[in-house]
Amino acid sequence: MTDTTPLSNEQILALDQQHVWHPYSSFLNPTPVFPVQSANGVYLHLSDGRRLVDGMSSWWCQLHGYNHPRLNQALYEQTEHMAHVMFGGLTHEPAVRLASRLVELTPEGLNKVFLADSGSVSVEVALKMAMQYWHSQGRPDKHRFLSLRRGYHGDTFGAMSVCDPVTGMHQLFSHTLASQVFAPEPQCGFDEPWDEHDIRDMQQRLEEHKNELAAVILEPIVQGAGGMRFYSPHYLKRVRELCDEHNVLLIADEIATGFGRTGKLFACEHAGISPDILCLGKGLTGGYMTLAATLCNDTVSDGICHGEAGVFMHGPTFMGNPLACAVANASIDLLLENDWRAQVSAIESQLLSELEACRALPAVAEVRVLGAIGVVELHEPVDMNVVQPQFVEQGIWVRPFGKLVYIMPPFVITPEELRQLTQGIYRVVSALG
Ligand SMILES: *Cc1c(COP(=O)(O)O)cnc(C)c1O
Repeated sequence: MTDTTPLSNEQILALDQQHVWHPYSSFLNPTPVFPVQSANGVYLHLSDGRRLVDGMSSWWCQLHGYNHPRLNQALYEQTEHMAHVMFGGLTHEPAVRLASRLVELTPEGLNKVFLADSGSVSVEVALKMAMQYWHSQGRPDKHRFLSLRRGYHGDTFGAMSVCDPVTGMHQLFSHTLASQVFAPEPQCGFDEPWDEHDIRDMQQRLEEHKNELAAVILEPIVQGAGGMRFYSPHYLKRVRELCDEHNVLLIADEIATGFGRTGKLFACEHAGISPDILCLGKGLTGGYMTLAATLCNDTVSDGICHGEAGVFMHGPTFMGNPLACAVANASIDLLLENDWRAQVSAIESQLLSELEACRALPAVAEVRVLGAIGVVELHEPVDMNVVQPQFVEQGIWVRPFGKLVYIMPPFVITPEELRQLTQGIYRVVSALG
């Protein structure tokens, strides 16, 4: 017989410690985990009765808050039609609607959509598209990628190869990864006057390696997990020009930045450019389901389809999952109805004024804000065993990595809830000395 007795907090923690991997976790030296019973709006409700304002949006995903009636409804309704069907030889309304919606909303020219299962898979798909494209052009020698230092593109093997070899967390595997070309991260900040020097290294590497490069891959404007850095739109504009000049494709990884987070619907819009291939994920379903998408322009898709294989060589089992597509459609509806621009710009102003106080703290090296993203960079890496419980005591969910204490709250957060986050960060960072 199945045992349906609810587990106590202690039982959950004991079983978790015995059996369950967490992201980048160890069974020998576990960092604390906090059982969550439910989540609602911007709040995580812990099983011990405490509630936390979520500053992380469950890693960039939550746009409209947890347990949203409209997203719940979209999910229930789709469940009654079908939870899943294979995508080989079959199609359905949720996927077709979503694909045409993404084509409409993303930068011009991106007309073809591959629905992938996760961000990392969408990056694998993007890399394969670029390689198949050049293969079809009789240039199988163009199979390497140029990416930026401090970049992060995911944890699978192809994605790992284009992450920063040091900060990208994958050093251990370096000898088995495809060897790629790296340019230094941009130095010119988002608002700083453009200095043409900043593009020199990228330009040199493109000139030197153009005959073996399939594509440049980068996170436009905001480098996320590899350093939380914001760079000049001019840099991105120049990369687009140089890619055209040297006959190299451009892949924009907007998995973190997509759907309004930086103050534009897509970060490429800050520079007014279209990439040849675009990766989306994270916020795509408003944080409900795992789903990602890789879009490409007609040049790339025509090339692939005229190539030796004649088809694009990828097709995951759960591709185009109807539940995920239905929630993504509802999430995009909400985003557009909610005036996301006003929400993000209000969060930006409040972060700018309230995180400013952190600048004076001895532990703080820099404070930066862009759109609904706030970063407090410290001089020294934090000890997670110490600071994680301190944030929880402040009633907020903030999960730093290394020297970076950062938040990207749900767009629906109220000024009072956001103040709780910024004040909690100030108190915890003050206590660091
Ligand atoms: C999170 C992230 C990925 C990986 O997505 P997963 O869904 O975790 O596989 C790739 N690129 C960027 C920019 C990301 O932020």
